[in-house]
Amino acid sequence: MKTLRFILGDQLSRSVSALGGIDPARDVVLMVEVQAEATYVRHHPQKIVLVLSAMRHFAESLRAEGISVDYVRLDAAGNTGSFTGELGRALDRHKVGRIVVTAPGEWRVRDMMQTWKAAFGVPVEIRDDDRFLCTSSEFADWAKGRKGFRMEHFYRQMRRKTGWLMQDGQPEGGAWNYDAQNRKALPEGTVPPARRRFAPDAVTREVMGLVGRRFADHFGDLQSFGWGVTRDDAREALRFFIANCLPGFGDYQDAMKAGEDWLFHAALSPYLNIGLLLPAELCRAALDAYRQGTAPLPAVEGFIRQILGWREYVRGIYWLKMPAYAQSNFLDANRPLPAFYWTAETDLKCLREAVAATRRNAYAHHIQRLMLTGNFALLAGIAPAQVEAWYLSVYADAFEWVELPNTHGMALYADGGLLGSKPYAASGAYINRMSDYCAGCVYDPKTKLGPKACPFNYLYWHFLIVNEARLKPNPRMALPYRTLARMTDEHRRQIVQAARGFLGRLESRSG
Ligand SMILES: Cc1cc2nc3c(=O)[nH]c(=O)nc-3n(C[C@H](O)[C@H](O)[C@H](O)COP(=O)(O)OP(=O)(O)OC[C@H]3O[C@@H](n4cnc5c(N)ncnc54)[C@H](O)[C@@H]3O)c2cc1C
Ligand code: SF4
Repeated sequence: MKTLRFILGDQLSRSVSALGGIDPARDVVLMVEVQAEATYVRHHPQKIVLVLSAMRHFAESLRAEGISVDYVRLDAAGNTGSFTGELGRALDRHKVGRIVVTAPGEWRVRDMMQTWKAAFGVPVEIRDDDRFLCTSSEFADWAKGRKGFRMEHFYRQMRRKTGWLMQDGQPEGGAWNYDAQNRKALPEGTVPPARRRFAPDAVTREVMGLVGRRFADHFGDLQSFGWGVTRDDAREALRFFIANCLPGFGDYQDAMKAGEDWLFHAALSPYLNIGLLLPAELCRAALDAYRQGTAPLPAVEGFIRQILGWREYVRGIYWLKMPAYAQSNFLDANRPLPAFYWTAETDLKCLREAVAATRRNAYAHHIQRLMLTGNFALLAGIAPAQVEAWYLSVYADAFEWVELPNTHGMALYADGGLLGSKPYAASGAYINRMSDYCAGCVYDPKTKLGPKACPFNYLYWHFLIVNEARLKPNPRMALPYRTLARMTDEHRRQIVQAARGFLGRLESRSG
């Protein structure tokens, strides 16, 4: 039976399930560039270029194998602008007995797929996305009957299942987790490896022209595009990371430095999330480096935990809890997103650096996302939906299954502790310890009140004060609440006054 195999822009893996059992002599692969997917949030232009250029290269690689690919470009005449519209038009071009797809990464698209059989009268087979290390049903089994869903417990189960960094049933080196050793600030004079960027080829340049014309008003620089767009590029980026960055990844995982956009991070998430790399090959490459003695155990364990642990875990939470998950707002946070998230115009230097890096690269590393833009949104009580729309727009690796739990759960605690055991709230002292930003800031991280006081300081205590009823019962918040209890009423009043003044000024500039 002739089959239409519909491949989405984040399914660019030759091993993707929708291509399983393909008969090149009979079947057709459908790939479509549609306006709706580029604009349902206003994606960073680099993300749009990455996805479209990688799709075009992937289509060519299938054609080189003799597979027939029906590829609809964004500017093709008659392009309806939506998946459903383009599928309907493709079915007019090809008489097929069935449609095969791989389950998408977003709830929104899964809902759409479920309408296709009735809309077109053709059977639609939605296959599991088996590029992950844990299936949704396996995760649901793990979660069944549990009171809390701690990532650490899930991660240990995944270590046992894969046997990675395990010896005779025990964790390699005697500990499951070397996080405590992975929290060093960057020593002065340390120069992180210069990052390998990819010069745009002719296909990418053509896409950049198209994106520049169509999405000129989206946040983000286009001309600094340097992402790889093929599997070969992505494998090259992986090799570079393993050889040059992995040895320092553990030590400086939480560090931040002005002007250093990548530090020792992998910068591989965009490739992983669109399928140019697979999670198992990243973990195996790190394990090989450990066995060969070129990367230490804490770095390799830390890296594997991000992929085998966090990445699989947030995906599990997403499919287990959506669509209700996105609706919760445990802290009743309702302020509008400040304008500086789009303009980088703020005198808080740390935030200015994080937003500027995001604009330059469609990338910020985890600690910038969590402890700067995320922490600020948490402390300032910004409405979760607005923060989530920002995160989904601005990063090249942003797809809802991974962005939403990280933002809603980890950064904003909007799920009330389903994902994290306590809010990742921090004052200026943390940022000062982990970065060199404060040295060049108009504020002083050691000053608590007054015009020079770092706003993170009074916002932190204000956050604890306004959320006391919700957060004080959490045993993991006992320490800060004991400190708060020792403050005089007058001191509390001054904190509230400083925070309200700052937030009022911020709100008047929101956009
Ligand atoms: C508020 C917020 C929003 C985020 N949004 C996204 C997003 O849209 N897409 C995305 O891929 N990641 C997201 N993350 C997770 C993480 O910040 C990025 O995966 C990471 O910064 C990507 O850069 P890297 O490849 O250099 O990662 P590294 O720090 O080098 O980590 C290696 C790999 O581990 C995986 N990883 C690490 N942490 C996480 C995590 N918390 N969740 C899932 N995977 C993880 C990534 O695939 C990453 O490539 C978000 C985190 C926060 C706090
Ligand atoms: S002083 Fe405060 S606002 Fe300024 S860089 Fe440091 S933490 Fe950020």
